[in-house]
Amino acid sequence: MNKDTILAHAGRDPARYQGMVNTPVFRTSTVLFPTLEDYEHRGDDRFSGVRYGRHGTPTTQALEEAVAQLEDGHRAVALPSGLAAIVCALNAYVTAGDHLLVADCVYSPTRHFCDARLKPNGIEVEYYDPLVGAGIDRLFRPNTRAVFCESPGSLTFEVQDIPAIAQAARARGIAVLADDTWGTPYFFPAFARGVDVSVHSATKYIVGHADAMMGLIVTNEKHWLRVRQTVADHGYSVSPDDCYLALRGFRTLGVRLKHQMQSAIKLAAWLKSRPEVKRVLYPALEGDAGHAIWKRDFTGAAALFSFVLQPAGEKQVSAFINALKLFGIGSSWGGYESLAVLARVEQHRTATKWNPGGPTIRLHIGLEDPDDLISDLDQAFASAKSAT
Ligand SMILES: *Cc1c(COP(=O)(O)O)cnc(C)c1O
Repeated sequence: MNKDTILAHAGRDPARYQGMVNTPVFRTSTVLFPTLEDYEHRGDDRFSGVRYGRHGTPTTQALEEAVAQLEDGHRAVALPSGLAAIVCALNAYVTAGDHLLVADCVYSPTRHFCDARLKPNGIEVEYYDPLVGAGIDRLFRPNTRAVFCESPGSLTFEVQDIPAIAQAARARGIAVLADDTWGTPYFFPAFARGVDVSVHSATKYIVGHADAMMGLIVTNEKHWLRVRQTVADHGYSVSPDDCYLALRGFRTLGVRLKHQMQSAIKLAAWLKSRPEVKRVLYPALEGDAGHAIWKRDFTGAAALFSFVLQPAGEKQVSAFINALKLFGIGSSWGGYESLAVLARVEQHRTATKWNPGGPTIRLHIGLEDPDDLISDLDQAFASAKSAT
């Protein structure tokens, strides 16, 4: 089935709910069993049925089923945030004495978790050059358990050669984990590219309306129970109301992503033509360093990219961002609204140097008219100029 058809049909079963189009919101803690014998065997289905609220209700399962089907994975589990999903995915693979490889372009709270929680617990965390490709093989040690990827990095947009990394890892029985928030289950076929465990901040495009926090982990069959049991051991539980919101966002994921991608390409190309701009970092743009691998491995691009200003003082940068009227200043992305932040990347690199040659601004392009957004950027450049 085409992904757009999956978006409309997956995770719902009207015949089960008196014809209701959407899976209703089921709230519960306690689930009652007809006999003691049934109760004693409640765990036998290994996370398939409903046994206690913390493990999910039919609403949670509808979302999990839908996302697993969209990404063509084995199964999915919902978590209260994207970061919770990253934490569980990593904790499923490494314990004291293990070696973990993490891409140097990784989302900074992921890096903080590795440095502040994993390292003091005796795990050797090694950051690697995101562009290492098949060369990852040289970094493997006898105690390497997992490689964590993030492609493209959500500030610098370096595209990783995940198939090459996965091929090297698979030959040694090392798990490949990837933060696929940018690629989404719609634009990046993670499992076909060799990923074992695909992690998403559903807060971004899946929820899509900046009104709920959610994480999702999708795995292939081999890795499912290990990850699912780790999530259960951490005690995470997701509200059925939030799952309902995520499922509502899921239905329109395709139209939003395709529309926002077209706008983002238009804005990125416009920015590239501006004298104030030194570089645009967006794999969907021809001429971008990651364009070839992106074109090979992805079927589309999130509307999130960065651009580097010509060397300018901080004063001009803040004048530029503060002058924006349609772009909000704030964390997150993937909603219907446009956002701008200053990407302070340099302080977050250890394995590689990141020196783009000027201040880096990250934009998320929402559902506004792209020409209105271009006018907004245009007037902000004018404001920045008069601030010198
Ligand atoms: C936002 C984000 C996360 C964390 O997700 P939350 O839902 O905010 O916890 C992880 N990875 C990337 C790439 C993100 O952009």
